[in-house]
This record gives sequence, structure tokens and C-alpha cells, in this order.
Amino acid sequence: MGMLRHRLSGAVITPYIVKGCEYHIWDTDEFWECAITHQTNPENHQVMRVLFNEHNEAIGVQYMKNNRTHNLYAVKEVIISAGTIMSPVILMNSGIGNPDHLHEKGVPVRVPLRGVGENLKNHVSYQVKVDLLGSDGRNQLNNRSLSEFLSSGTGPLSSTGLSQVGAMIKYNARGVPSLQVFFAGLQALNSTTGSIHETNDYNRHFGISPTLLKTKSTGRILLRDNNPLSYPAIHCSYLKYQEERSLLIQGIRQEKDNYNI
Ligand SMILES: Cc1cc2nc3c(=O)[nH]c(=O)nc-3n(C[C@H](O)[C@H](O)[C@H](O)COP(=O)(O)OP(=O)(O)OC[C@H]3O[C@@H](n4cnc5c(N)ncnc54)[C@H](O)[C@@H]3O)c2cc1C
Repeated sequence: MGMLRHRLSGAVITPYIVKGCEYHIWDTDEFWECAITHQTNPENHQVMRVLFNEHNEAIGVQYMKNNRTHNLYAVKEVIISAGTIMSPVILMNSGIGNPDHLHEKGVPVRVPLRGVGENLKNHVSYQVKVDLLGSDGRNQLNNRSLSEFLSSGTGPLSSTGLSQVGAMIKYNARGVPSLQVFFAGLQALNSTTGSIHETNDYNRHFGISPTLLKTKSTGRILLRDNNPLSYPAIHCSYLKYQEERSLLIQGIRQEKDNYNI
């Protein structure tokens, strides 16, 4: 990530890092071309379930591509890293999970394992928006800032604005923070024409998000049916406990006081 080099404005840049490709700003075609050259697998394959041998060892995955199912076998091992939501979904579609739930949805049970999809936690937050009255309405992502970034790596495009600023507040008795504050915004605004004189008629703003760090509330991810391509049912169960609600409200009030809003 670039450092904040342009006072408080900049652009959020998401670097696509592909082994063997140097980091720079990608256009989509260029990214995929590089990904394919380096033999990563960019195409739209959806894993449906894990394949097992007769000893119940994972040996590969079954996936869907262009409406056809394919099997892909592992040389060494199968690692599921499909994210918080989809990792347990793939496990459950493979018959690994709470047997009652799998029975109910018509998925043959391979490994009865309560707990799969049962510990969904999130960092619930609320964004307090701050408008900067009378702020500069010039759009800064323009041809000039693009040239500057490409030639020297500086300027509005080199910065992530306020998004890398954060704070931990409200420590509990054991010295563990229970609230984090994220900041967002003050990135350079896009010029749609590329002109360095383009302006907008709204004030710049930024957001402050008090966020619960360690929540007691626990949600669940469940299958809707036995079709691996169906969306899962996500039960978030946010803010179930009064102490969580009070803490978040306290954080919001504190930030509003800090900025007199
Ligand atoms: C808004 C936001 C901001 C964040 N900011 C930060 C941060 O500043 N710092 C930080 O450290 N972390 C941050 N995180 C958390 C971080 O992004 C995650 O912890 C991390 O990406 C998890 O990596 P992963 O590989 O487990 O899952 P993911 O990054 O979610 O990757 C899972 C991949 O699996 C693919 N997939 C899912 N299902 C299937 C399927 N059936 N078949 C094939 N592919 C599938 C998905 O398309 C996805 O590409 C942030 C998260 C969010 C949402």
C-alpha cells in the first residue's frame, strides 16, 4: 500500500498481486493475460464439493464450469480457503457438518461434525459521516495525477486516503480493546473527463466507524437445500446482547462529540 504522500487525499488502490507479475495499475485484460501466463486459474470455476477416497481422505474437488461438472484431483492435499461464508458451505455440501442439519437438507453425512458454520462472528460497525464544509471541490484523479503516479509513484493515486488510519479505544480490564475506530474517505475524487479543472459541487466528507472487536453474538451459516449452487442461508444474529449495543452506541456518541456533530 502507498504511503500518505499527498496531505489527506488519495485513491484507494487495490493491488492485484499475481505471482511473477510486478505490481502496477492494471486494466482488466492485462491482469487476466498476466494471470494466465503465470498459470494461475482466473476463470469462473465454482467448487461444489470435496471428493474423497474409500478411506475418507480428501483427494480433490468437484466443480462446475459452463454448466458442466468436472473433477479435479489433488497432487498432495486439498485446502479449502473459500472465505468465511463459502468454506463451511463447501464442507456441508461435502457431507461434513451437523448431521441433523445435513439430514434435514438431504445431504448424505460423511463426517458428523457439529460446529461447521456455527460460529459466525462479525465486526459490526456504524459509520458516522463528517462533511467538510467549504472543502475543495476539485476532482483530483485526472490525467495529471495519473501521469504523476506512473512517472514517480506520488500524488493522489499513491494514497489510500484515510483508510489506513485507525484507533483502538475502550480497553477492557485485561487491556484488550473492545472497540476499534476505522476511518474512510478523503480519497481523491474521480474526474470523469480526465480534465485537471473538473469540479464537483458537493463537500468532501469522511467516515468514522466505531466497530465492535470481540462480539458474543454468534450467527450461523446453513444450507438452504442440497443443491451446491444454491446460496446459503446466513443468519447474522448481530447485536443480540445489550452490552454490545451499549458499547457501539457509546463509540458513536464519543465520535460525534469529538467532531461536534
Ligand atoms: C471490507 C473488508 C475490509 C477488510 N480489510 C482488511 C484489512 O485491512 N486487513 C486485513 O488483514 N484484512 C482485512 N479484511 C479481511 C480479509 O479480507 C480476509 O480475512 C481475507 O481476505 C480472508 O482470506 P481468505 O482467502 O480466507 O478468503 P477470501 O479472501 O474471501 O477468498 C475466498 C475466495 O474463494 C472464492 N470462492 C468462494 N466460494 C468458492 C467456490 N465454491 N468455488 C471456487 N471459489 C470460491 C471467492 O470467490 C474468493 O475469491 C477485510 C475484509 C473486508 C470484507
